[in-house]
Order: sequence, then C-alpha cells, then structure tokens
Amino acid sequence: MRQKILASMSLLVLVTILLSSFLVSLVMYRHSFADLKQDIQDLSAYLVAGLNLDGVEYLALVADIADTHRITLVAADGTVLFDSQVPVETMENHRGRPEISAALQRGEGEATRLSDTLITQTYYYARWLENGQVLRVASTSGSVYSALSRSVPSMLLVAVVTFLLARFLARWQTRRIVAPINALDLKNPLRTDVYDELSPLVTRIVKQNVQISQQISELQEKREEFLAIAENIREGLVVLNAKAVIMSMNQSALRIFRVKGRDYLNRPILTLYRGVEMQVALEKAYRGVSGEAALAIAGRQYQLMANPVWVDRKVRGVVLLILDVTEKMGAEQMRREFSANVSHELKTPLTSISGYAEIMMNGLVKPQDVTKVAEKIYMEARHLIALVEDIIKLSRLDENVELSREEVDLLQVAREVAAKLQPLAEERDVTISITGDSATVHGLRHTIEAMLFNLCENAIKYNREKGRVDVSVYHTLNEVVVEVADTGIGIPYEHQERVFERFYRVDRSHSKSTGGTGLGLSIVKRGALYHDAKVQLTSEPGEGTTVTLRFPKNS
Ligand code: ADP
Repeated sequence: MRQKILASMSLLVLVTILLSSFLVSLVMYRHSFADLKQDIQDLSAYLVAGLNLDGVEYLALVADIADTHRITLVAADGTVLFDSQVPVETMENHRGRPEISAALQRGEGEATRLSDTLITQTYYYARWLENGQVLRVASTSGSVYSALSRSVPSMLLVAVVTFLLARFLARWQTRRIVAPINALDLKNPLRTDVYDELSPLVTRIVKQNVQISQQISELQEKREEFLAIAENIREGLVVLNAKAVIMSMNQSALRIFRVKGRDYLNRPILTLYRGVEMQVALEKAYRGVSGEAALAIAGRQYQLMANPVWVDRKVRGVVLLILDVTEKMGAEQMRREFSANVSHELKTPLTSISGYAEIMMNGLVKPQDVTKVAEKIYMEARHLIALVEDIIKLSRLDENVELSREEVDLLQVAREVAAKLQPLAEERDVTISITGDSATVHGLRHTIEAMLFNLCENAIKYNREKGRVDVSVYHTLNEVVVEVADTGIGIPYEHQERVFERFYRVDRSHSKSTGGTGLGLSIVKRGALYHDAKVQLTSEPGEGTTVTLRFPKNS
C-alpha cells in the first residue's frame, strides 16, 4: 500500500511538473513572440516615416544599426529593391510571398516561417507604402520547438529535484499515516493515540472486539457445556469424519475401546474394533440411515448406535453412541434362568406330592404307613409354600418399586427373629445370642426382617450340635452393621462366591433335609442391594461362617 501511494504520488508529481513546465514554456514563448511582433511592427512604422523622408539610404543606415532585423523593400511588381542581408540581384520576385501579397491587397501582411531544422522561425511583417512599394521587416527568433527543447534540461532538473522531494515527502507522509495504524493495539484500540480520520475505524474495531469476545465466550460456554456432558455421560461417544476417522472420543469411549491419551486422533475407527456388526452399522450410517450393532469387548456387552451427521444434505460424519448393556443383558439372562429354575424348583415338590397322592389314591399304601406318606406330602407342601413365599419376596424386590420405608431398629429386629427361631435353635441344640446397640436403618421392615431371618436360620441350620449363633449390631463412623456369626459347618471355599446365586445350594441333599429353598441368601443379597448395603461373607469350612451386612448411615 505504501509503495502504491509512493508510486501514485511520484507519478502525479512527474506529470504535474512536465505539464506545467510545458505550459510555462509555451506561455513564455507566446509572450516573447508577441513582443517581437510588436517590436517589428513599431520598427516598420519608424522605417516608413524615415523612408518617406530620406528614401532607401535611410533603410541602409538603419539596417546597419538594427542588424538583427532584416529589412526588405519590394516594388509593386514584386522585384526586390533593397535587402539588408542578401544582395538584391540574387533574390527572386517576392510578389508571391504571403506577407507581400497580403500587404499589396490589404495594406499590411504578416507571415511566420520555420527554418528547415525547425529550430528557428522568422516573422515577416509587410506594409504597403503610398508609392505602391512594400516594406518588409523580418526578425528571426527561436521556434516554439526550440523554446520547448531549451527548457528541457532545466525542466528535467526541476523534475528530478521535485520528484526526489516529493518522494521524500510522500514517504514521510505515508509513514505518518501508517504509523498510528501499525501502532494500533487491536485489543485496546482506544488506548492508541490516532488522528481524527482513524476514529471511525477505531470505533468499529472496538465494536467488533466486543462482538467477537461475546461470540467467543458463547462458543466457549457451549463447548464447555458439550464437553461437560460428553465427558460425564456413562455412554461412549465417538465423532467420526466423512472417512470414518476419529475426530473426538469421550472418556467412556476411551475406556470401552481401551485407548490411552490422544492415541485415537486421526485413526480410522476400524483400527480400534474390527467386528463385522460395527462395519455394517457404519456403512448404514454413511448411507444416511441410523445403524445399530451389538459389540462384545473384553467380556462386556455394548449396544452401538451409529447416527449420520448431515451438513448441506450430505453425510459429513457419523456420531457413535455406545451403551454398556452388560448388566442389562446379565439381568435378562438371570431372569430367564430364574424363570426356568422357578418352574423346575416348583415342579419337584409338586411331582412328589402328586406321586404320593397317586399311591394313596390307588390304595397302595398300607394303613400303618398313611401317616408317614401324609407327613411327606405335608413336608413337600411346606417346602412348596416356602419356595413360593421366597419367590414372591424376590420378585417384589426385583420389581424395584419404591416401597414405603420406615425407621427399622436392627437390634430389635434381630431379637424378634431370634425369638421366632428359638424353637428351631432348641431343636438343633444351638444357642443364639444377640448383642450390641440399638441402630436404626431407613428401610423396608419386612425385607430387613427376611434378610436377618434367612441369615440366622442358615446359621442354625448349618450349625453343629451345641453350636452357637452370635448376632451383633453396632455402628461405625458411616455404617450400621449387623454381623451373624455361627460355629457351623462352614462353606467350602469354591462355593463361597456362588452361595448368593438363586437356587444355589452347596449340598442339595443336606439342604433339602433342612428345608432350604436355595433362595435365602439371594433374598439377603437383593435386599442389601435395595438398601445400598454391602454383604460380606467369611467362612472357614468346619469352623463356621460370618455374614456381615453394612448399611450406609444416610440410607
Ligand atoms: P438354603 O435355603 O439352601 O439355605 P441359601 O441361599 O440360604 O439357601 O443358602 C445357599 C447355600 O449356602 C445353602 O444351601 C448352604 O449350603 C450354604 N450356606 C448358607 N448359609 C450357611 C451357613 N451359615 N453355614 C454354612 N453354609 C451355609
């Protein structure tokens, strides 16, 4: 820009100088030529007067003095009678000369003739005399071209000097114009001292700065909002560009695909997971239709949703949402297994009952055995009722409906449970003791009762003769704890993990003889989950088992 200003200013200066020099030379030339003409005309008037007095001799006299002028006397027929510079004999007839013929016709005439070289020009002025002769006075001066060409060196000198001066001035001026612009602090333009013409620019910059900072902070907020959401959701979120290359991934997605740091950037998604299902879902999404796929990664189940990103009616990318459905599928699997087990478990006592009833019906039971068979039927029916009751309890908890909670004192519940189980304990020769402090939990009374009942019942059932069951209730800083410890047969290590599974029994025959349903500990576990409580089991085969329930204090 600076160069452009310099160039245009220089050009302007150059053109102005050339033009003005030309015009000045022209005007001066015209002035001097007009003066010359006037001089000659004045001289011719004097000469005419002298000629009338002294004749041709006068002309010869004057010609000697005014030797820069050429004086010619021409007869009416054009014959040259006198010439101050050229011998008359050598001169041709002058009647045809324009100034002579004009003077002959109109009394005076003039003509200007350029030399062959164009450098000089001669001005002729002719006057008709009363005796019919014509007096011509001529003077040679530099032509207009020579006047112009003579002014060229000085013109060039002036041009060069002015050009340099103008260049210097232009440079200085542009520097002065540009300096405040260069020094403009774009963040705080008002702080810069600028000239008036820049004020509108400064005001606009200030306005735009405000707009830009507003837009930036809005964008920043949106970005942070998006990041906060994207980073904190449990679902994996992956954004792919048009070529299925990863542009961003949230923490959950990094965890799912086991990617560290920013390793994922610019990598095709298929280098992280090659499953055909995902390829199919991606292809669908890139065709503009949402796709779904089930993925299995490192033993977990995921549901993938691939959604196209439309920009200008074209699919410019795909967003993948990956949901961890391991628990959901596990729960479904468990429900399916539970239903199958329930049918099986219900069928077993029913088959026995119907078998015994059939034998009785067919009169195949001796009268003295009727009581025994009836007792068996009764026992199976009891077992069936216990099963159904446990299934109902579990199903209620599985429904996960928020049932009405109340303050439940664990110590009190433990005492009530112990009282209910006293006959069984006596039957098995087992002593139950309850110790501890009163400790309340905000929960479901029936469920907590059932949990403690099952634990104490197990502690009695799987005990040895003269064994002990010690129930203690106490507080820790954050928890309310119930511990049920027995001195019983214990649980073999390999079974300890599984005893909380539904219908799982360590020893089926023993369990059957004790009337177990295999659901007691499942109810404990499910009830604990409902109350956000933790269940711990420690057991030493042959020595005893301790089950601890830890309820959070704010439950
Ligand atoms: P069950 O109705 O058969 O007692 P549970 O779910 O209550 O079913 O228990 C599952 C299995 O865990 C039982 O069959 C039993 O073998 C074992 N078990 C539970 N509690 C104890 C305990 N206190 N001592 C030893 N074994 C136990």
